Amino acid sequence: MDNCIFCKIIKGEIPSKKFYEDDLMIIIADVNPRAKKHYLAIPKKHYKYFSEMTVGDAANLAKCISKIAELAPSLGLENGYRVIVNQGDDAVQTVPHLHIHLLGGQKLGIGGFTVDE
Ligand code: AMP
Ligand code: ZN
Repeated sequence: MDNCIFCKIIKGEIPSKKFYEDDLMIIIADVNPRAKKHYLAIPKKHYKYFSEMTVGDAANLAKCISKIAELAPSLGLENGYRVIVNQGDDAVQTVPHLHIHLLGGQKLGIGGFTVDE
């Protein structure tokens, strides 16, 4: 996608603090961290929603999740972490390229991101 910020990061057109890369995904620091450790695991293929995934995309996402679990200790998430995937307007998804938030490095509150009344 031409105008997608995460596609541009994946292509190296926008700088990022990259912690991991393979043929399926990158893991970068979130530029606006909501926890002491806040990473974004971004599959390289551009799609916005789980509902857009092909069977192959889902299989690749499963591989990404396994890799995240393997890498977690080296990312400072050895004591646990929260996984968030925002989907659509009610979740306030701001970047239309599926990504997995990984939050940790501290004791997190019981909620996820902010919940407005
Ligand atoms: P979401 O609201 O789930 O779509 O999350 C998008 C996330 O991308 C937010 O947490 C932003 O802080 C983060 N973000 C936006 N632009 C960048 C960037 N250039 N580098 C790293 N993180 C970014
Ligand atoms: Zn994209």
